[in-house]
Amino acid sequence: MNGQVESGHIENGRGGLVDGFGRVHTDLRVSVTDRCTLRCTYCMPLDATFKPRAELLTDDEFLRTVRVAAGLGIRTLRITGGEPLLRPGLAGLIAGLVALPGIDEVSLTTNGLLLREQAVLLRDAGLCRINVSLDSLREEVFRKIARADGLDRVLAGLAAAKRAGFREIRINAVSVRGLTENEIVPLAAFCRDEGFHLRFIEFMPLDAETKWSGEQVLSGAEVRGILEREFGALLPLPVIDPGQPAIDWRFADGGGVGFIDPVSHPFCDRCDRLRLTADGQFRNCLFSTTEWDARAVLRGETLPADVDATLAELLRGCVAAKRAAHGIGEMDFQRPARAMYQIGG
Ligand code: SAM
Ligand code: SF4
Repeated sequence: MNGQVESGHIENGRGGLVDGFGRVHTDLRVSVTDRCTLRCTYCMPLDATFKPRAELLTDDEFLRTVRVAAGLGIRTLRITGGEPLLRPGLAGLIAGLVALPGIDEVSLTTNGLLLREQAVLLRDAGLCRINVSLDSLREEVFRKIARADGLDRVLAGLAAAKRAGFREIRINAVSVRGLTENEIVPLAAFCRDEGFHLRFIEFMPLDAETKWSGEQVLSGAEVRGILEREFGALLPLPVIDPGQPAIDWRFADGGGVGFIDPVSHPFCDRCDRLRLTADGQFRNCLFSTTEWDARAVLRGETLPADVDATLAELLRGCVAAKRAAHGIGEMDFQRPARAMYQIGG
């Protein structure tokens, strides 16, 4: 590998992160912890164990890795986990990421439990958009899904986020057949009243307890049907950003709702995202069964010693190996060894 050529790529972004199918990767999901305050049935096991802290990347390691990724064309970051608000000093890390050359936008996905305490700090750190995961407005259903209490704290967190003045607040709700049907209309009414953008996500085979089955997937089309019976016909909106997995629809009387349908309508052909796990592994897909070990490079466990050039090469290799599609529902589909909370959703 020619170090000068590598540096050239890193400095000016030429070369880009283009895979074998021509998809250009500009978005990186960064998981900052695998720990969480909840134990959602579709994500974590009740008896979850976590990586020792020493195995998670430090702030400096995250910043170095993302700097290299930005040099290759990454423009947007989403911070996730586990529950990212559990990471000590998160606002400082976000401020560092926001300041990196080439990074246009940093957003975050949280379960909202600690948001009341951190909303202003995060906004001041430069976070522009925030996604709060919320599947139900009823305490007993919240508890059944999350296997912990906390609805009142999530609602307080949302109110604090609103006061803090984020550019956009989105609510993510996972749809599971037999579990969330009755939550859909109340959630939509709440979001319409509060000015939050609601998005429904189909249940994916990434639950740690491996109970997922195709029958449990409540499709986006079915959720839309439930909404239309209550609120009248929804109208599809034109796709503005093709890399955006959500398809947005509009209520006839204004306001919108989005659907992320990775199972019934995979969007792999326009996927522009890569992932970095809390323990420093690059992944090219949620369903990737291979990982590329950035931590080993950062900690000098691999040669050669030119860390940035080696990280760049590693990320390019990760992108080059990306498959055409996740393959859910196909005969040879293989679940990844790690569950959602260990990857970063
Ligand atoms: N703890 C944070 C939260 O819940 O927002 C961030 C991490 S969580 C893994 C990110 C998103 O993934 C959440 O919106 C969550 O609902 C979603 N999620 C988790 N497991 C899922 C699954 N099996 N299928 C679909 N979405 C899932
Ligand atoms: Fe925690 Fe988020 Fe997973 Fe729920 S979905 S267990 S809040 S990481």
